[in-house]
Formats: sequence, structure tokens, C-alpha cells
Amino acid sequence: MSHIIVVGCGRLGAELAYTLFQQKTQVVVIDENDNAFNNLHPDFLGRRVHGDALNQGVLERAGIKQADGLAAVTNSDPQNAVVAYLAQNIYHVPRVISRNYNPQLRKIHEIFGLQLISSTSWGAQRIEEILLRTDLQTDLRLVFSAGNGEVEIYEFIIPDILNGKMLEVLFAGAICYPVALTRFGKAIIPDNKTILQTGDLIQVSATLDGARILRQRLQGYEV
Ligand code: AMP
Repeated sequence: MSHIIVVGCGRLGAELAYTLFQQKTQVVVIDENDNAFNNLHPDFLGRRVHGDALNQGVLERAGIKQADGLAAVTNSDPQNAVVAYLAQNIYHVPRVISRNYNPQLRKIHEIFGLQLISSTSWGAQRIEEILLRTDLQTDLRLVFSAGNGEVEIYEFIIPDILNGKMLEVLFAGAICYPVALTRFGKAIIPDNKTILQTGDLIQVSATLDGARILRQRLQGYEV
């Protein structure tokens, strides 16, 4: 069983700790503020270590010497970078991720040679994509291309003309498979009988021909 340390039990850390815990991982969460552990999901059964993660004694109490992974996700970029650096270079933890909180401080993580995740930049970019790409309503956006592009994953938004229709109406005769449907931020894997709603965000895997048929249906053509 993997042993993972999550440093910082705020909004991101608590969510991450519970997600890891659900994957049957042995999770230890560190926070210097005891109240932060209240952010954890009530079903979370991982260990909690109270203390400043910049203190190597605290990291060792959390089992850093045996850890398979560590995520430094406090709200301070310099602290995340230092903790992640210690984990990577002193304790040789095989997988280390540092959270970039303020995009202007991204360089700190890069200078330390750390794998970083900038949830702020990523979130902003994703929101911009959905807000400004109005063509998403009538067109497909390429997300991933497999092989030489024979099969691709696309995403699009369900337009009004498909509101209340079953997914099979959209897919009939097209070689494509649903990957995910997100409605109000919650994703499911839809099936042919799923009823579509205006604004649903859908990812599909499709051949080029399948994508052509989907595109026409999104634009209201009978195919
Ligand atoms: P949030 O901004 O909601 O993701 O919360 C960040 C969390 O990181 C807070 O709960 C802080 O108490 C915690 N934190 C900040 N610095 C440290 C540190 N040096 N050691 C342990 N936890 C910390």
C-alpha cells in the first residue's frame, strides 16, 4: 500500500487527502493549525500530524523516510518549495509535487527543480476556455489525439436544440463513444439513454468521420 504525505490540510489538502484515502492509500496529513483537520471528510481515517512541516522532526513523525509520495499543498509557495525540496533531495521520496499558489511565484518551484501544480493558473485557463469558446456550442474542441489522429477525444457543450434528447439521438450512426458528461461540475459516464441538458459539457472519443457527424448535429443538421 502506498504511503503518501499531504502537507497542509486546507481546502486543497483536505480534498486531496480524502481522494487518496478512497484509493486505499495510507495517507498522513500534516498541518500546523489543529483546526485545519476539521476540513477533512468525516469518513477520512488517515493519520493527522500536528506541526510545522518545515521542521524535519515533524516530517519524520509523518513517516517521510518510508514515504512513496509527498504533496506540499500549503498556502505558501516558499514553504511548499522548501518542504518539497527536502522530500526530494534529502529524503529521496520517489514522487513529490509542490503546489504553486500564487502564479507570480511559480519561479520558486522551478528554481528548486520541482514538479509543480498550479491550480490557480489551471483553473483560470479552464474557465476561460469554457467562457470564451462560444464555438464550443456548435463545434468540437480537440482534447487528445491518439495514434496518427485516427481516433480523437473532443469536447463540446450541448446546445438548446439537443436539450431533453437522449444521447443516442446525437450519436446515431456515428462512430463515437462517450467519455464523460459534466453537469453542474459533477461528472458521470453517460450511456445512450442519458437525457441531455443544455450546457452539459461532454467529452467523446470519435473517428474523424464520427466527429464530422457530431459537428453537423450540433449545428442542427439532420444527418
Ligand atoms: P488552504 O489555503 O485552504 O489550502 O490552506 C493551507 C493550509 O496550509 C492551512 O491549513 C495552513 O495551516 C497550512 N500550513 C501553512 N503553512 C504550514 C506549515 N509550515 N506546516 C504545516 N501546515 C502549514
